[in-house]
Amino acid sequence: MKIDLCPNCSSDRYIKSGIIKNRQRYKCKECSYFFTVNKLGKKIDDYYVNKALQLYLEGLTYREIERILGVSHVSILNWVKKYNIKRPYNGNYHPTYKILNADELSNYFKDSNNLVGAGLIITELGDKFMMIKWERFKN
Ligand SMILES: [Zn+2]
Repeated sequence: MKIDLCPNCSSDRYIKSGIIKNRQRYKCKECSYFFTVNKLGKKIDDYYVNKALQLYLEGLTYREIERILGVSHVSILNWVKKYNIKRPYNGNYHPTYKILNADELSNYFKDSNNLVGAGLIITELGDKFMMIKWERFKN
């Protein structure tokens, strides 16, 4: 992402001034305002927002999503609030998940025992795939 102007005074005279939380920080030479630009493009951000909310809806916890996507659970919590996501409560099923590459995924499907249960979905996750499977709580 390219920035052209200081967001404070619209000057184009700014210098690089360190990295803060993976973002390039700039300092405006006119007004001494510090500002940052996200290193990742907006498209990539949206990808992780969508994935995080998808996983949240599938019943995973914030900590689990953090572990899978490498996105802070605080960010995920904020997105859930921002987009007002409410997940339907269903205590009879609980999701388990595996991260697999394409070969592992095809091997998994060769064993029909793996396909029995309350259903599963597969979602792309970078260069791998995540499989979420639901199992009934045994009473
Ligand atoms: Zn400025």
